[in-house]
Amino acid sequence: MTEIAPGVLVATSSYAITTTTVVVGSSGGELLIDPAVTVADLAALAGELSELGLRPTVAWSTHPHWDHVLWSAELGDPPRYAAPAAVTIAESERDGIVDGVEKSAPGYDLSLIGRLQALDASAIPWDGPMAQVIVHDGHAPGHGAVFLPDTGVLVAGDMCSDIEIPLLDTVDANPLGNYRTGMERLAAVPGVRQVVPGHGHVGDAREFGRRLALDAAYLDAIASGKPADDPRLPGAPDWMRGMHEAQVAYFQR
Ligand SMILES: [Zn+2]
Repeated sequence: MTEIAPGVLVATSSYAITTTTVVVGSSGGELLIDPAVTVADLAALAGELSELGLRPTVAWSTHPHWDHVLWSAELGDPPRYAAPAAVTIAESERDGIVDGVEKSAPGYDLSLIGRLQALDASAIPWDGPMAQVIVHDGHAPGHGAVFLPDTGVLVAGDMCSDIEIPLLDTVDANPLGNYRTGMERLAAVPGVRQVVPGHGHVGDAREFGRRLALDAAYLDAIASGKPADDPRLPGAPDWMRGMHEAQVAYFQR
């Protein structure tokens, strides 16, 4: 784990450059956001946390996709929260989530996957630094970023990435509007000094602005049927290029 701000640690998995964020609270408690990805990653995370004298006292899942709702018994049994709409999806789409875990990160105790409680509040209840949640339906229903005003860290979930194009929730009735609303809500957060994407690298305030502008340009292009000249596409893995092509096709329809 790398300490990116006082009391804010980020671990990065080699699997899809997935981040896990830890916020240190009082008396060894911590807020754990999106622990991921492989069984070995979570074992290493649990080991590192216990070496630091930390234990999860509360957890948050940014959205109901398989790589953001993982858990292992070594992390204990704190309340694991997500936004209400995310919990609804985690329950109704449980089979798909479990399938994703089995295919991509096998070996988990599946009974612990996606066991989330709905939190309908503007901040995560715990005795550590204020952790505000910013909920929208871009990328996935009930997508909840976490902002830590004390340190200016925005844990953005699967938005604002240096390696991922915007990935729309195209089964939703209004994927583009929802995504843009999400971006507006994140852009309106005052005092962001660092952004932690769900996949990719931590960026500073300037980089946060650059990514929002890139994302807006990408969305404008595909929504108007123009070629998306996005710097993240040429080196993108096959699955992301496939998602891009599906999004282009969606708007052509
Ligand atoms: Zn993800």
